[in-house]
Amino acid sequence: MADPNPRILRYGMAAIAEAAQRIGRGECVAVPTETVYGLAADAGDAAAVAGIYAAKGRPSFNPLIVHVADLAAAEALAVFDDDARALATMFWPGPLTLVLPLRADAPIASLVTAGLATVAIRVPRHRAMQALLAACGRPLAAPSANASNGISPTRAAHVAASLGARVPLILDDGATEAGLESTIVAGRTILRPGPIVAADLPFAFVPRVDDAAITAPGQLATHYAPRKPLRLGATTAAAGEWLIGFGPIAGDDTLSASGDLREAAARLFDALHRADASDAAGIAVAPVPDEGLGVAINDRLARAAHR
Ligand code: AMP
Ligand code: MG
Repeated sequence: MADPNPRILRYGMAAIAEAAQRIGRGECVAVPTETVYGLAADAGDAAAVAGIYAAKGRPSFNPLIVHVADLAAAEALAVFDDDARALATMFWPGPLTLVLPLRADAPIASLVTAGLATVAIRVPRHRAMQALLAACGRPLAAPSANASNGISPTRAAHVAASLGARVPLILDDGATEAGLESTIVAGRTILRPGPIVAADLPFAFVPRVDDAAITAPGQLATHYAPRKPLRLGATTAAAGEWLIGFGPIAGDDTLSASGDLREAAARLFDALHRADASDAAGIAVAPVPDEGLGVAINDRLARAAHR
């Protein structure tokens, strides 16, 4: 049961300064946007992003939306085509998220994109999130600030009731405007309906049909999976396997030598990419305890193994 009394500060200069300081230290902070309250952390800090998942108790790693101050900041992270630039010009700042190719040099932790080569990005309009982005001077990853399977929070009190002391600070700026998560588009597909509806958009969009339509190579895939066969629960490497260790099981690489689940979450997708890029024919992964962040790690490993 969450502590019912987390620290709540009313929006203002002091609150923004403290929030930015905490984010600089790798903590997460709940902050209102025009959609719902988000749980924000430095998108370039893998351990901080793992902290978002830990606080939400999310049983899987979905890619998170990256929030930036303006279009220029977005263009430093992602590759914009003409369509994307037109949408950004029309709707930013606002509740439209664009899924775009991630720039190779973008300072974004692989846990944010769940290892994908694309990134979901938007410029929020809310004064509190804008002030926080300006004070931090860096992109912030922020899913909704509720415990996994909970209802999206539209007031500070909802965040407090859902996350309690698992969030060190909540910026309170009243009820959010839309109360609905942002519309997400990828190319000319609406991945998630939201406050900006199809009729608002400047060209014809198709709604998302199902995952199958977007899992072909080179298309949108919502999950990263290695190309090589993946064997789970391995205590030693078989011939030709690259072993990703955990805790006492050392390998060619490790998720966390000390058995720390937060470190393991932070390293997971980088470790999979390294294994995929190695000379080995297959990948083996040591057992990870199925508790806390381990549940999300195992969920993602199981999906990757069943490709
Ligand atoms: P949130 O939990 O509000 O951060 O929502 C993130 C949503 O964006 C989820 O539904 C994700 O599946 C989706 N999303 C984020 N990044 C991507 C991406 N690179 N490709 C496809 N969908 C994405
Ligand atoms: Mg949510």
